[in-house]
Formats: sequence, structure tokens, C-alpha cells
Amino acid sequence: MNKSFWSPGLEKLEPYTPGEQANSKNLVKLNTNENPYPASPEALSLLAQGDFADALRRYPDPESCELRAAIAERYDLNDNQIFVGNGSDEVLALSFYSFFRRSDPLLFPDITYSFYPVYCQLFDIEPRTIPLRADFTLAVEDFAGNAGGIIIPNPNAPTGRYLPLDQIEELLRLQSEQVVIIDEAYIDFGGESATRLIDQHPNLLVIHTLSKSYALAGLRLGFAMGQKHLIEGLLRAKNSFNSYPIDAIAQQVATAAIRDSAWHADNCGKVIATRQRSEEALQELGFQVVSSKANFILAKPPEPGAETLYLALRERNILVRYFNKPRISEYLRISIGTDDEMDQLIRNCKEILASQS
Ligand SMILES: *Cc1c(COP(=O)(O)O)cnc(C)c1O
Repeated sequence: MNKSFWSPGLEKLEPYTPGEQANSKNLVKLNTNENPYPASPEALSLLAQGDFADALRRYPDPESCELRAAIAERYDLNDNQIFVGNGSDEVLALSFYSFFRRSDPLLFPDITYSFYPVYCQLFDIEPRTIPLRADFTLAVEDFAGNAGGIIIPNPNAPTGRYLPLDQIEELLRLQSEQVVIIDEAYIDFGGESATRLIDQHPNLLVIHTLSKSYALAGLRLGFAMGQKHLIEGLLRAKNSFNSYPIDAIAQQVATAAIRDSAWHADNCGKVIATRQRSEEALQELGFQVVSSKANFILAKPPEPGAETLYLALRERNILVRYFNKPRISEYLRISIGTDDEMDQLIRNCKEILASQS
């Protein structure tokens, strides 16, 4: 391929590879942490009945005022403490650009969301990975020392491990001169959000997404919450890149979804209950299960091991995620599906393990 027209450095980028999006109908898809249930009926009926002709003819509200007001109300914050973007990936990218391009390295765990090193490359940020302990727990004191910023997902991905709020607070105090981003993509599945620390900590930015607990991964909506000076920084970067990021339809649907807190609580409860059943069933089959507060489970299968089981499940139209990476190559990451999907997974694991022994 002729790359001579590309800007220097572009060919050295190693882009993020998302989990496979296969389209087969009878596929049990447990590989990208999507929600197995349809989104809030309030949000979906708005889409079904919506007359968007005028909304689409015009440019959308560049500030997404109504949506930001709904988020602010939900988290007991001010509108000027909310920033919205096309999925939290976009919010993360703008945050890396706005806060982490410094002379000192950005710290994050060695096992974590694999988009972070990609943004480091894109924005020329030096990454420094901090090893998690042997059981995949994060020790706050390991994050001391020179840093140009910190980012951790809580619960972490793909381990599912949750760091309690008092330890997040310790981290905020330990690195009080640096922006600390807590990526809470999975917080609604049993953790406590750090949003209530925002007023005391000027260096805290909390990032959420509607892709997981709101069942709206296809809508592309994420948001950041923090004190006004951080939000202003993000707005400056965003308005230098794309001034109308959230389309008119997404603004309305997301607003309806955020307001439907009853649906949200019920959905998270169902996923948590299925996670607990699934953890027990996997343990009975001999898996070592990492304790999870997310909508997925990281688990180490017995012989013949993770890669073989991943491939055998795939043959049977069941997709889970296998990472051929240091420290987690003996594990599978299994998204929580419906009870029926999890039963199919368990039944097939049982058959495969029996046939191989
Ligand atoms: C899924 C995920 C995201 C991205 O979510 P989008 O809003 O769909 O871009 C961000 N961070 C972590 C840790 C995730 O797992």
C-alpha cells in the first residue's frame, strides 16, 4: 500500500481492536460486554414515535443542554460539571488530550482497558504501567511518585475487580496535583460511584457510558463529570475538534434513558443476579473466578485451558473474549447475558470439558 500521503507517524499507530461483532442470528454473544436486554422503553418508544424531521433539518444543540441537565439531576451535580461525547471513548480521547500531554508519564494498571495505550500513542503521551498484585487487586500506594496523570477503570476491565471509594479518595490525595480519571463504565453493576467525591477533589474526573448499564452501545453516548475547570478544559478541546458532537436523536434518546431510573435499577439488578448464579455455576465446573462487580466475569478454566475452550465454544456459536496477553492468557472474559444464554454457556462448557478429559 502507498503510504506516502500519510502524515509522518501515522503508520506506526497500533489501533484498538474491538471484540468481534458477528451477525449470525443463533449466536450467543458474550464477548463485548453489551447489555443482553433492550434499553428503557421510554427511550425506545421515543425513537419509535419520534418525529425528527425538524430536529434533523437543523444542527443539534451544540451544548446538549437538556441531556446535561438530566445527567446533572441524576448525579446531584451542576450542569456546568457535565461534559458529553460520542461514547466514553471519545470523552476519554478528549480527556487524554486535555489533561495528560505532560512531561511526566501517565500511570495506569498493567492489566486494564486496552484503549489507554492507544490514546497515549495518538497524543504522544508516555505511558507507565503499574502492575496489579497477583490476585489482580490494585494497591493505591503503588501509584505514588512522578506522574503526569492517573487513569483507572473502576471496576477494572477486564478483571472486574472493584476498588472501594475510600481507596479512590486515598489515590486522589496521593496524587492531588494530577488529574485522576476514574473510568466508571461498569460502576452501576454493584459499585459506588466516585461522583460524590467531586465537590471535595478538584483533580477528579469521573467518566460514564450509556453503552453497558443503559443498553445503548449503538447510540454512542458517554459523559464526564468533574469540577467546572476540568469541564471547561474538555469543552475547549471539543470545540476545537467538532462543535456538534452529539446528534439530535441521540440527545433526546439519551435524555429519556437517563430519566428512566426505575428501568435502570431493575436492569442492573437482573444482570447482577445472573452474574452471581453464573459465578457459582462456573466454579462448580472448576473455573477459578475473579470476584466481579461488572457485567462480565474473568475466569480461569480448568484443562484444556482458556484458548482451547474459547475455540471450542466458538465452534458451537458461543462467543467469549480471549486475550492472548501476559498474565491473563489463561483466562476468559465472559459477558453476562440473559439467564438462558448463561445456561447455554454453562451447558456447553460442561460438555466440552467432559469430552476433553
Ligand atoms: C466499554 C468501555 C468503554 C467505552 O464505552 P463507549 O461509551 O461505548 O465508548 C470505556 N471504558 C471502559 C473501561 C469500557 O469497558
